[in-house]
Amino acid sequence: MEGVEERVEEMREVFRSGKTKSEKWRRSQLMGLQAMVQQEEKTIFEVLQKDLGKHPVESFRDEVGLVIKSINLALSSLKDWMNPKSVKIPLFALPASSSLVPEPLGNVLLFSSWNFPIVLALEPMIGAIAAGNTVALKPSELAPASTQFLADVIPRYLDGCAVKVFVGGAAMGSQLLELAWDKIFFTGSPRVARLVMVAAAKHLTPVILELGGKCPAIFDKLSSSQQEIAARRLVAGKWGPCCGQACIGVDYVLVERRFAQNLIELLRKTVSTMYEDSRNLARVVNQEHFIRLKSLLKDPAVYSSVVFGGGVDNDAMTIEPTILLDPPLDSAIMNEEIFGPLLPIITVENIQDSITFINDRPKPLAIYVFTNDETLRQQVLGGTSSGSVTFNDTMVQFALDTLPFGGVGSSGFGRYHGKFSFDAFTHEKAVMRRHLLLDLPQRYPPWSNLKLDFLRSVYNYDYISLILFTLGLKR
Ligand code: NAD
Repeated sequence: MEGVEERVEEMREVFRSGKTKSEKWRRSQLMGLQAMVQQEEKTIFEVLQKDLGKHPVESFRDEVGLVIKSINLALSSLKDWMNPKSVKIPLFALPASSSLVPEPLGNVLLFSSWNFPIVLALEPMIGAIAAGNTVALKPSELAPASTQFLADVIPRYLDGCAVKVFVGGAAMGSQLLELAWDKIFFTGSPRVARLVMVAAAKHLTPVILELGGKCPAIFDKLSSSQQEIAARRLVAGKWGPCCGQACIGVDYVLVERRFAQNLIELLRKTVSTMYEDSRNLARVVNQEHFIRLKSLLKDPAVYSSVVFGGGVDNDAMTIEPTILLDPPLDSAIMNEEIFGPLLPIITVENIQDSITFINDRPKPLAIYVFTNDETLRQQVLGGTSSGSVTFNDTMVQFALDTLPFGGVGSSGFGRYHGKFSFDAFTHEKAVMRRHLLLDLPQRYPPWSNLKLDFLRSVYNYDYISLILFTLGLKR
C-alpha cells in the first residue's frame, strides 16, 4: 500500500525531534482525545449501532464511558507517572542515589479488534500517548464504520504527525508488521498473534498480546435472592457485552447437576426480561461469524442439547440467546471460543470438579465464580491460572483502573489499563548517581584473600564486617 512507509517515517522523525516527550504534548493529546470522545459521542453511538447493533447505553457503558474514565485518570496522574521514582540503595553503594526514570519506547503499533472497536483502540492509545510515544493504530476492518470514524476524527483532534490511523485488512496489517517498531500491542486472535510474534522477532520488538479463549463461570449454591442477582450478572456477562462477542464474556457455565434445572429456569427468565426488546441485544458482526456460529449448532448431538432458544433467522442474521445443557465435550462448541450468543451449561457432580475441568483446558482470560464459600474461592484462586478471577460478578473487572487487564498462557501476555497502560509503553531506565568520594580499594586488583572476605561481606549484607574492614579493624 502506498505511502505507509512514508507515514511511519514521519512518525519516527517526530519522535526523534523529542516533541512527544514533553508533558505539555502528552497532556494536549489526552485532552484532544477527551474532546473527541465527548464531542463525537453521538457519532460514536451511530457507528457502533451500524457495525454491531449496539444500543447507545451499552455503547456508553462499554466504550465511551470507559475511555472518558481512563483519560481522566491519565490526565490527573500524568505528572506523577512521569516523575522519576527513587529506589533504595544498599549501604555498600553509598554515597549515591538511584532512581527509575520513565522514558517512552518510541514508535508503537496498536492492532485492535472489531467487537469493542472504540475502547480497544483508544484504551491502549491513552497509555501510549501518556507515556510519550508516537502511535500507529491499525483498527479492524470488520467494524468498518468505527474504523472510518477513527481515521476521520483522530487527525482532527490529535497531532496527525504523531498519531496515525492505518485503514485496511490483513494486507495492511502485514505491511505494518514488516516495519521496525519499538512495541507492538495486539488485540485479536491467537492465529494472527503468532504472525505478529514472528514479525516482531525479526526486529526484536517487544509485544503485548491481548487474546481470548473460553472464560468459564462457576455457579455454586446460593440463596434465592442471591441467585437472582447472580443470574442477572451471568446473563449480562454472556449476552450483554456485544451479543456474547467479548473476550472476557462468559463462554460456558459449570454447575452441580442437582442445580442445573434451577439455573436454566433462572437464566431463561432473566434473558426474557432483559432482551424481550431485541434492540437491547447487539448483533453478530457479519455473515462469516453468523455462519461460524450456526455451524457450532449443526452437530445433531449439540443441537439436541439446546434447552432454550436455538432459533436462527437467516435473513436478519440473528441467533436467539441460546442455552445448551451438556453438549458433548469433544464438540466444536466446547473446544473453540464461542464468541456469540450461545451458552453451554456443563454439569459436574461436585462443584470442586470445576477446577479440574478448567485446568484440563487452556488458561482462560477470565474466570467467574458465583459462591459464598470461602473454601471454593481459595481453591479457585490457588488451583487455577487465568488472567483474572472475579467473584460474584462478570465483566466489571475490565473497568477497574487499579487492576491490570491481560491474559496468561494462551489468553495472551502483557497487561494494561490505568497506570499499567503507561507502564506498557514505558521503559523504566535504571539510573544511579555516584559521587567521586570514598573509593574502596577492595573492589580492585591486585586480589588477595582479604579482598575476597571483604567482597563476601558485601554480598552477604554483613554490615558489621564491612564497617570493621573499612576501618581497618578486620584483617
Ligand atoms: P483478528 O486476529 O482476526 O484481528 C485482529 C487484528 O489483526 C485486526 O486489526 C486485523 O485487521 C489484523 N489482522 C488480521 N489478519 C492479519 C494478518 N494476516 N496480518 C496482520 N494483521 C492481521 O482478531 P479479531 O477477529 O479482530 O478478534 C477476535 C479475537 O480477539 C478473539 O479471539 C477475541 O477473544 C480476541 N479479543 C481479545 C480481546 C482482549 O482484550 N484480550 C479483546 C477483543 C477480542
